[in-house]
Amino acid sequence: MQSTRQTRILATLGPVSQTEETIGALIDAGANVFRLNMSHAKHDWARAVTGHIRAAAAARNCAAGIVMDLKGPAIRTGDLPAPVQLEKGDRFDFTVDSSAPAAEGGRCVSVNYPDFLNDIEEGARILIDSGLIRMRVLRLTERVAECEVEVGGELGSRRHINLPGTKVNLPALTEKDRADVAVGLELDVDYFALSFVRAAADVVLLQELVAAHPHPPKVIAKVEDQHAVQHIDAIIAQADAIMVARGDLGVECPFEDLPILQREIVRACQAVGKPVIVATHMLESMINEPMPTRAEVTDVANAVFEQTDAIMLSGETSVGEFPNRCVKAMDRIARRMEREPAARFHELATLTNDRQKLAKAAVSMADDVGAQAIVVFTRVGRLVPEVAWMRPRSAPILALCINDDVATSLALHRGVRPVVLPWDAGDVGGVAEVVERALQELVAKNLLETGDTVVVISSRSAVEEIADSVQMRRVGT
Ligand code: PEP
Repeated sequence: MQSTRQTRILATLGPVSQTEETIGALIDAGANVFRLNMSHAKHDWARAVTGHIRAAAAARNCAAGIVMDLKGPAIRTGDLPAPVQLEKGDRFDFTVDSSAPAAEGGRCVSVNYPDFLNDIEEGARILIDSGLIRMRVLRLTERVAECEVEVGGELGSRRHINLPGTKVNLPALTEKDRADVAVGLELDVDYFALSFVRAAADVVLLQELVAAHPHPPKVIAKVEDQHAVQHIDAIIAQADAIMVARGDLGVECPFEDLPILQREIVRACQAVGKPVIVATHMLESMINEPMPTRAEVTDVANAVFEQTDAIMLSGETSVGEFPNRCVKAMDRIARRMEREPAARFHELATLTNDRQKLAKAAVSMADDVGAQAIVVFTRVGRLVPEVAWMRPRSAPILALCINDDVATSLALHRGVRPVVLPWDAGDVGGVAEVVERALQELVAKNLLETGDTVVVISSRSAVEEIADSVQMRRVGT
């Protein structure tokens, strides 16, 4: 039996990875969770791909999580009659009037942000295409923001804009996001990722929108600008999970701050037990090359050292030439790093309830006895995140879930291997029998071996008879 990798791998799907076969190959390579990026995806595509993820996972008897990533209040330029070549020192205008650019002979472009001229200030920076083109606002008039080009380049239509430091006054959920959420609920996705979260209230808005659903998807707050950084503690407290979205964060903040921000956010999440994803440009060069750069290997390794729950691939698996190789590269780096001593930020955590203390006791026992696994009986998945939070040294957390919905909702947590096993079905017998039967099923599934030492835990919400118990067991024949 191959040792289990603890760090979860999140793969973004796209044109090169949208069939059941290619998704199955990504699962075989080591992907645990799939991301649908609604900045590009259409609803029918999301419907088809969700079906392919579930079919590929079912064929492999595993639980694959699904994240629908909402576009959020992204700002972009409007249409231009033709691409414009901008040189350092050029003057260029931004307007909110979409009819202006054609009349201005290519020296002006519109933006999809009605309050743009009220919210931007003279001296502010406007960055386009992830900061490849950079401008500064010289003067504001009633009609336009007059800018000077600081770094030039070719400006095309509908390009992404960042306004570092400007408080953008757009709604947290656009009309498009709301339509995407309706489709995500129809498809029973496990998570919605909310882009450009600026405050905890943005997260609440989405949580309230999905609350009435029978299995409300969890909300991942994407931290990608200075406002999110300013309100990080409240956002972490409110969200179900956090994504360090380094693509935009690295443009919105000075890039030399990015490693520090990543480490602080990962540490803050582990202090309170929230799952955290490190995302973007992890293996960017592998979009076109079969091997990662040394710097990329070290970047992935650092995230694993920090014991982040998940690491994410974007263009690498959605449009790249080597999607499987990217997942395998992450898998190799993570397995190797997990054999080394790690940051153990979670040791700073203050535990506030008995369930957390029970999880800590179980993990500490598993570490001390060198258990081959921690087996958690769960109905709704509540105890499993607490166990994952305590970061077992090497024992995988086998989360015995009574259905697929619970199993896929746990796929993002570090060290968790969700297993659908309806242990509460029918005439279950006594506690000892339930545990024994489950252990034998895990042997049959090749997840445990006879003679393994396991720590078995459950909470009151699992089976009343085995309330709040932690026990050490030897897997029998
Ligand atoms: C990012 O900016 O790092 C990110 C993950 O967001 P998106 O890919 O949606 O721009």
